[in-house]
Formats: sequence, C-alpha cells, structure tokens
Amino acid sequence: MKKIFLTMIAFCALSVQAQTFEQYFIQKTMRVDYMHVGDAVTDQYFIDEIIAEPHWGGHLTNLIDESGFGYYLVKVFDKQTKTLIYSRYYATLFGEWQTTDEAKTIQKSFSETVVFPFPKNKIEVALHTKNKATGIFEEKYRFDIDPNNYFIQRDRRHVYPVYEVESNGNPNEKVDIVIIPDGYTESEMNQFMKDCDFFRDEFFKYEPYSSYRDRFNIHAVMAPSKESGADLPGENIWKNTLIDCSFWTFDSERYLMTTDNKTMRDVAANAPCDQIYILVNHQKYGGGGIFNHYCTGINHNESAGKIIVHEFGHGFAGLGDEYVGNAEYNDFYNLKLEPADPNVTTLVDFESKWKDLVDPQTPIPTPATPQYKNQIGVFEGAGYMKEGIYRPKQDCLMNHFRCEEFCPVCQRAIIKMIDFYTVPVK
Ligand SMILES: [Zn+2]
Repeated sequence: MKKIFLTMIAFCALSVQAQTFEQYFIQKTMRVDYMHVGDAVTDQYFIDEIIAEPHWGGHLTNLIDESGFGYYLVKVFDKQTKTLIYSRYYATLFGEWQTTDEAKTIQKSFSETVVFPFPKNKIEVALHTKNKATGIFEEKYRFDIDPNNYFIQRDRRHVYPVYEVESNGNPNEKVDIVIIPDGYTESEMNQFMKDCDFFRDEFFKYEPYSSYRDRFNIHAVMAPSKESGADLPGENIWKNTLIDCSFWTFDSERYLMTTDNKTMRDVAANAPCDQIYILVNHQKYGGGGIFNHYCTGINHNESAGKIIVHEFGHGFAGLGDEYVGNAEYNDFYNLKLEPADPNVTTLVDFESKWKDLVDPQTPIPTPATPQYKNQIGVFEGAGYMKEGIYRPKQDCLMNHFRCEEFCPVCQRAIIKMIDFYTVPVK
C-alpha cells in the first residue's frame, strides 16, 4: 500500500502546473482528425490524419482542463516522462446523435478533431468517452505521435484572408473567436463583414461579455461559398456551400449543423482559434452549439443576436439548454447522475452547482410562481425534460428569448471560462 501511495505522489508531482509551455510545445497547432464511429451505445475512434497548423491561440499556462464538462476528454502525455502536458473536455455531434431513434437502428461515423499546441517531443494521445451510466471518463484509444514524422500534413487546403472584427491583443491571452461564413458567395463578402460587425455589437451587448470585452479577439475568415443560403432537406432545397450547413439536423427543423468537420477546421486554421462560430447566410430561425466543438447561427432574423449568445453559451461554457421539449432526443441526461453542465442539476450533487447562490429561505425545488420570479432557485424543467431536472432561474437566455439576460449561474460559468482562456488586463 505504501508503495502505491508513493507512486501516486510521484505521478501527481509529474503531472502539470510547474511545467512551462516552452518545455513541451512550440507556438503552432497540432490537429488530429479522427472518425468517431458507433451506434446508440457503442463508440470507437479511428485516426484520419494529423495536421500541422500555423497558429496557436490558446493559453500558455492553463493547459490542463479541469472543467469536467462535455462527454469526451483528450489527454496528451509526454512520451518519455509520461507527464500529462495538455487536456481538454469537449462534446460532439456524434454524442447527440447517439440519443436519437436512428442510432438504435444503424451505425454512423462522424469526423471530429482534437487540437493542442504542437509538441516538441514524442507524445501519447489518449481519447476518453464518458460512460453515460456511471459518469466516469473511460480511455477508449491511445496512440503515439512523433512530431518529426514527415507524414504530418503541412499543406494548407483552405487559405483565405482574415477580417479582424475585434482586436484586443495577444491571442494567447484572449478568447479567440473565429467566425466562419457559410452560404455567402464571393459577391456577398461585404455583407459578411457587416454581419460580423453585427455579431460583435450584439455579442458585447450581453453580460458578462460587455464587462469582459477586452478579453476577446474576433477574427473572421473571408471564405466564400459557391451558392448563397443553406440546405433545407425538409423543403428539398440544397445549396452548394463551403461548410455545408443544413437545417433539419436529426430531423429538427431549426437545428442547423454541419458534418463537414474537416473543411470547417481547414478554414478555422487561418486565424488563432479558441472557439469556432459559423455564421450562416439565412433568415430562417436556426442554430446550434456544442461544447468546444463549434457553434452556428443565422445572420438575418429578429432573434439573430440572441441566437449568437445562446449558442456561444453552449460552445464556450458548456451550458445546457434550460428549456423543456425537443422530441428528437431520448434521455439526453441520465437523471441518476449530476450532469456536467453548470446550469442544470438533477439535485444528485447540488452542492457542486449553485447551492451557494440560493437564499436559505428559498424552497428546493422552487415553485415557478411570481413570488420567485427574480430569485435564484431550483425550478423543475430543463435539458428538454419536464421532470427530474432543474434550472437556476425561471428565465434565462439559455431558456427562451423573451428574456434579455443570462441568469447569474450562467454568467458565473461564462466568467470562469473566460478566466481559464485569458490573462486579466492590468
Ligand atoms: Zn441560465
């Protein structure tokens, strides 16, 4: 037992903190593309290609992610010393698809990507899936990468100019949002730039983004499509667009997503990137956002501004939807476990959520009555489900767009993530 204990201490000492970026990495990105394959209950990983990209927009010291959000986790180890040198939690479109009826009948493959700073020495990369029954992250696939391997792709497939929408300094110290256009033709690039300005103006209207504006950069890649608009399979409308965004994802009309992960990533590589936002040239209400994967939203609609911050809440801070409904998913959350999303709870481990923000006089669960309209509480109904799962406030931008602000719990989660990505401005 003593020996095991000492080994654990040695391991903990090896993993992280004091290690500097320069010891293990250079300021470029290593991108690993893989296929995520499976059905409703199984998943497997198959490597596609490894790519060297020119920028690294991430933090230089916050390399280990302790958020615990999402359903997937990548860990990067220095091969020789076994030191954990990088990790990141994320979610995927594949994981959402697993909760659809279709996933009970067929197997499908989705292209996905993990990125980390380009290593100096040989590394081991370990991909983990969260077991939905136990809530434990299980290592599914581990492989070696030699950064000197000459088969690492170094050609650039989608090179475009970048329009700097908001510039506040060193990308390593900021949240870098990369806006990618979809369904804007060459002649609509001026419109795209105007829409990016609209994105910026709307984004910084809402707290906490207004107060933290100087911690963000926004880069827009000027990548035109052959045709204008997006695919609408339910109306038999098909457009040849660069990122191939489509309404009716998983047969949900307003769910506007893409499965062309590789083109999306190629385009995003034109700028330092922490978060990808695909701006789709369409007026029809729609969007989507997946934690540390990508977000989408339309440009011209009365809700366009709120869609931007709502979807970014998913993509950036791992926020869950606070609304009820959406029949396309089955058991999106396991009610026997505490979900990772910071703004929903099953009350299994409420201490780990926003209990500290609830007035001791407020009943738990909290009745959704006018008396508690402006209180932080525990209101039943969230995460597409009516019962057994709760949200922090009756109204929030993660619930519906009649509301004008994020609830304090969502704001706190967003600020925590901003702090993780950035260095405070003195
Ligand atoms: Zn909220």
